[in-house]
Amino acid sequence: MASRKFLNGFSFCAGPPLCGNAGLVPRQLPTIVPTPALPTVVHLDADAFFVSCELALKPELRGTKCAVGGRERGIISSASYEARACGIYTPMPTARALQVCPSLIMLPHTSGLYSKVSRQMFDLCETLTPIVQRNSIDEGYLDLGPCGFTTEVEIETHVRQLQQRLGDELQIPVSFGLAANKLVAQIASKLRKPRGFVVVTPGTEEEFLAPLPLGKLPGIGAKTEAALAAKHGLKLVRDITSRNDTELKAIFGDGWRDMLATARGVDERLVETEHDDAKSYSQQETFSADIGDFSEIERIAKRMVDELLAKIRADKKRVRTMTVKVRYPDFVQEAHGRSLENATDLEAPFYALVAPLLRAAWQQRRPLRLVSVKFSGVDDEPAQLEMFAQSDEKRRRLADVLDRLNASRGSAVVQHGHQLAKRRGAS
Ligand SMILES: [Mg+2]
Repeated sequence: MASRKFLNGFSFCAGPPLCGNAGLVPRQLPTIVPTPALPTVVHLDADAFFVSCELALKPELRGTKCAVGGRERGIISSASYEARACGIYTPMPTARALQVCPSLIMLPHTSGLYSKVSRQMFDLCETLTPIVQRNSIDEGYLDLGPCGFTTEVEIETHVRQLQQRLGDELQIPVSFGLAANKLVAQIASKLRKPRGFVVVTPGTEEEFLAPLPLGKLPGIGAKTEAALAAKHGLKLVRDITSRNDTELKAIFGDGWRDMLATARGVDERLVETEHDDAKSYSQQETFSADIGDFSEIERIAKRMVDELLAKIRADKKRVRTMTVKVRYPDFVQEAHGRSLENATDLEAPFYALVAPLLRAAWQQRRPLRLVSVKFSGVDDEPAQLEMFAQSDEKRRRLADVLDRLNASRGSAVVQHGHQLAKRRGAS
């Protein structure tokens, strides 16, 4: 798992290339590169998510007091910030909400909309990093460790760009927290909603948490918060860190050490992508000599598309998102991705993306040390027949024949035109 490569401020560079190719000899990479501690863990939390999804379809309602929920004996499941200012919260019985705020505009749930937008939201996140943990329909974590960023400013710039894209392309406002661990990133993302953006520099976690009310810590609900204040005079996070061990043990019992660690902002949990093995397919290649020729890099990337799609078909999966990453000799790297409307197991729709994604990622037209292709947004549900045109069916039958032929001979005996062109050029 990629995130396992990042430990205690050291990032382990990618190992030798995964695929061999005549004329491209693997170059041994240095194993460990020390890096300063950076806020590479990001928590994102969409603001008033269901309402935001509805407003994207009904922009004329922006700025109004509105809420998503059941009208008859229902509850409010999401409320606009204007409605919240009027006293609406979730979950609140709809009848009560309409008493508190008679001008409240009630929007019924739109079936399928929120999961579709959620998927689009996380697919966009995957264009920034492959390590995305989808916690719920509108919350998740990103690990930017693999992106190779070297400064806090660089990280902040990229995450702000992602926030902007979510707003521009999906019309979904999202709040972000950036920190060295999940606990602090999550608290940070919720501090300045909507459209929050809070960065906690590694090493300042305790200082950041100290002035916050205890209820901001996970696991401390409103009742516990009130009880701690009433019985022990504990109101702010610093009221915990300032007590001695004996006092804390008396208050929190056996869990006192965990409570103290939380109050100090210590958290060792890693960002986990569920079903990691099935979440993505990727391939990368480090060149024996840096390559500056666009068409050659494009050809290599298309060969990766061929090889990865064959695997994807063999696994009976389909994929939606393609990400191309380039790395320069000084290890600076950049990635760009795009998602198709529907998941597929065919090369053709992805071939069309190779050149645009490569151009977008390869902004500094310096020679490259490495290129990689990754497919994510893996779908293992059977394809609906009507989703594919007849021409796709023909392509799929042809692809099956080629896959079987190549598998039976142990290597790529049948290749696509873009690979043959290079062969002729090389001979
Ligand atoms: Mg939310």
